[in-house]
Amino acid sequence: MLPWRVDKNHKHKLYYRLLSEFMLQQTQVKTVLPYFSKFLKHYPTLKSLSQAQERAILKLWEGLGYYRRAKNLLKSSKHLAKIKYELPDSLDEVKKLPGVGTYTANALLAFIHDKPTLAVDGNVRRVFSRILNTEETEINFEKLIKLNKKKIFIKKRNSDVVEAFMEFGAIICKPKNPECNSCKIKKKCNYFKSKKLKKVNLRKNIKNKKINVFCYLNKKKQIGLTKKSNVGFLKNFVLPEIKIRQKNLSKEWNLLLNYNQNISNKKFNINLYYKFTKKIPGDFKWYNINNKNEMIPSFTKKILNKIEKIL
Ligand code: SF4
Repeated sequence: MLPWRVDKNHKHKLYYRLLSEFMLQQTQVKTVLPYFSKFLKHYPTLKSLSQAQERAILKLWEGLGYYRRAKNLLKSSKHLAKIKYELPDSLDEVKKLPGVGTYTANALLAFIHDKPTLAVDGNVRRVFSRILNTEETEINFEKLIKLNKKKIFIKKRNSDVVEAFMEFGAIICKPKNPECNSCKIKKKCNYFKSKKLKKVNLRKNIKNKKINVFCYLNKKKQIGLTKKSNVGFLKNFVLPEIKIRQKNLSKEWNLLLNYNQNISNKKFNINLYYKFTKKIPGDFKWYNINNKNEMIPSFTKKILNKIEKIL
């Protein structure tokens, strides 16, 4: 039983759901679990979270990636503090919470207020796509759910329906090798009945990226880092220069090593380069390599540990 799947009457159900919805965005359950426990230990209630400092939240989030989620989680808790920690009951109002889009808003409305709203994620898309034996891209999910509301939802158990869809997609109607033989709805499933099965869009969970990381170093044991990087997953944090790998590279850069690092649903293959220089680009600042400030993300810290050995 996952810790955020609590009883409908649980006094902290909004907090647990909010926390899990933010943490689970583009991140697997097994990665999230220790962070979820850590947050509850430091901030046992939504109220305590809403009174926290951003710096402390980012520190706890360290290693989970996509730090914008942590900032939005805190902003959302502060927003909820202004309305007595009650989730509004309309989609438009819930979407006013920072970082909450249609998917999360629908999930929260179903889980907290038992509303007949389905959060359409990869699992739900795949299940419908198979039942109809139609490509995901050809299905208008919003219209489909609206037209079949009475068939899909069960009064007073809408949150269970949403949960069941997610579980069904993860355990039975899996992306690869669905358990069709033991599936209770196989007689109604066009994918199962079809002799000529259509290819179902399988969303790749892991994206591979090859990148080059360039470290400007000087003789004072300093490294040039910038906050103005265009790397989406670590925006506003200090990073060395990062570029998608290209074939032709200036000879002034020395290759230190190649390694792999996973961040959320991305697998990075990193070529780590360095050069000694007195000049750094305008948006960069020198940082002492031993000053592993708490605001430096773990992605950069790992690089500092590797670079430290040649200084
Ligand atoms: S029969 Fe197979 S493909 Fe169809 S819904 Fe069940 S598990 Fe999915």
